[in-house]
Amino acid sequence: MDNKEITIKQSQQIVDDWIKTVGVKYFSELTCLAVLMEEIGEVARIMSRVYGEQSFKDGENEELADEIADVLFALICIANTTGIDLEQAFKKNMEKKNSRDKNRHQDNEKLQ
Ligand SMILES: [Mg+2]
Repeated sequence: MDNKEITIKQSQQIVDDWIKTVGVKYFSELTCLAVLMEEIGEVARIMSRVYGEQSFKDGENEELADEIADVLFALICIANTTGIDLEQAFKKNMEKKNSRDKNRHQDNEKLQ
């Protein structure tokens, strides 16, 4: 894949194309959820070893970026199988964060 930037919408299309060719078809929604949880666990495993007190076994490597990309892929699969436009959902969610939650964290004494 080249270095051109891709939009969230394009990433959903890229995943959809891959699933329908290489992957044959989407797993069920619940299996997609289980896969997402597995991938999040792989991110947690690396985070606990790089930033936490756990240690790697000999020969283990840390590819956090790749594991986060797996999480993104699994999340996009869920969006695609449930008919969610992630770009619109993200925009809407950020609008909410910028309005409803505008002062929430600034007013949180624990963050000062
Ligand atoms: Mg993974």
